[in-house]
Amino acid sequence: MATTHITKLGDGTLAVPDRVVIPFIIGDGIGPDIWRASVRVFDAAVETAYNGKRKVDWKEVLAGEKAFHQTGEWLPTETLDAFREYLVGIKGPLTTPIGGGIRSLNVAIRKALDLYVCQRPTRWFEGVPSPVKHPEWVDMVIFRENTEDIYTGIEFPARSAEGQRVKEFLGRDMAVDFDFTDDTAIGIKTVSEHGSKRLVRAAIEHAIRHGLPSVTLVHKGNIMKYTEGAFKSWGYDVAETEFSAATYTWQQWERTKVTDGEQAANDEMAAAQAGGKIIVKDVIADNFLQQILLNPKDYAVIATLNLNGDYISDALAAIVGGIGIAPGANINYMTGHAVFEATHGTAPRFADTDSMNPSSVILSGVMLFEYIGWTEAAEQIVEALRQTILDKTVTVDFFNQMTDGKLLKTSEFASAIIDKIKSGFDRSI
Ligand code: NAD
Repeated sequence: MATTHITKLGDGTLAVPDRVVIPFIIGDGIGPDIWRASVRVFDAAVETAYNGKRKVDWKEVLAGEKAFHQTGEWLPTETLDAFREYLVGIKGPLTTPIGGGIRSLNVAIRKALDLYVCQRPTRWFEGVPSPVKHPEWVDMVIFRENTEDIYTGIEFPARSAEGQRVKEFLGRDMAVDFDFTDDTAIGIKTVSEHGSKRLVRAAIEHAIRHGLPSVTLVHKGNIMKYTEGAFKSWGYDVAETEFSAATYTWQQWERTKVTDGEQAANDEMAAAQAGGKIIVKDVIADNFLQQILLNPKDYAVIATLNLNGDYISDALAAIVGGIGIAPGANINYMTGHAVFEATHGTAPRFADTDSMNPSSVILSGVMLFEYIGWTEAAEQIVEALRQTILDKTVTVDFFNQMTDGKLLKTSEFASAIIDKIKSGFDRSI
């Protein structure tokens, strides 16, 4: 294999050459403005962090409207092949095609590469406008299951012949006692043991790698016992069977309580915490949406199913400044394949206005550099972004919520970050 490729080694780590090719999709709508700004920041950070010893050769691959105009296809095979070949890539937001058999290009990419973790870190940068009193209390990483749940698209419209057959089958063969009226639509929720376990495994491994205190399984198992409830049980199983030396679970606490009493269980939990063990706990999804507002400090790594993760990601993003600054990644930790991406959409009304916030793609790049082990470049970007926001030099989304901000265009905001990187910023600020 050529030396420009990232490869996954037998021990699970990545081999990353100093000169590496990384494919990117520029994205639709505001994508091109934001990518052009972000890539300048990435290159400046890599150049500064490694004095020119390391470099990324960004390789454009097509998807979305640009692909459709040039090739007649929304997601050409070459694009998926490039992500397969180079292992790690990054993308801007893509328009969801209307009709044409593709539900969503993002879903198609995740499916093709079996990117089963949707990873979203949520932290607050000082100075970013927030609707809550203590946004600094939020510092969580969400591991959202990315391939199952109601997102598989198995659903049948009301009054359809297919829907009718499913309803008849459920009533006749499965003895389901429910009044399926003609106007009832049907959707199927799928949750598997292997899908749940690999997701929770990745979340616990992340907590171990980063020395984080807890992993919380968020579920709605009180109502959906065999899907969400099973997710919780399988999650605890993974912790207790595969990570017993590193974790202590609420399930273990429950068992000790039954055999030895509550005090003994509390002592055991306290000893586990004092010994640096990761506490694996669970919270019901509706309660969790309260908890992130009331007690966010109690949570570090979140492992959850697809739909819960969708809601939780946006709620947390809103607390720390909105989707303009929320990064994301879709990862298969077993094969190493990863596609980093902005969490916002194409905001087509603002295309080519050079006005939107590039922070979501910039911080997705930070995740990418952390993933490939170029942590010095990642740190440069985070610190420069932090200081640029502290200076109150911001794009319109933040500016509109500040009383004394200075409004910058997308490209100017990137330049402000690059100036900080190049000037070897004062880290005491
Ligand atoms: P959107 O995220 O594109 O925009 C919603 C609003 O959020 C915008 O009007 C804007 O006010 C704000 N916003 C978005 N990005 C911003 C940024 N970087 N800086 C500042 N403000 C920002 O959501 P939408 O309007 O629901 O979707 C538009 C299109 O994007 C649709 O085709 C949708 O399918 C697609 N989409 C793509 C992705 C993706 O590729 N990951 C994600 C969501 C939506």
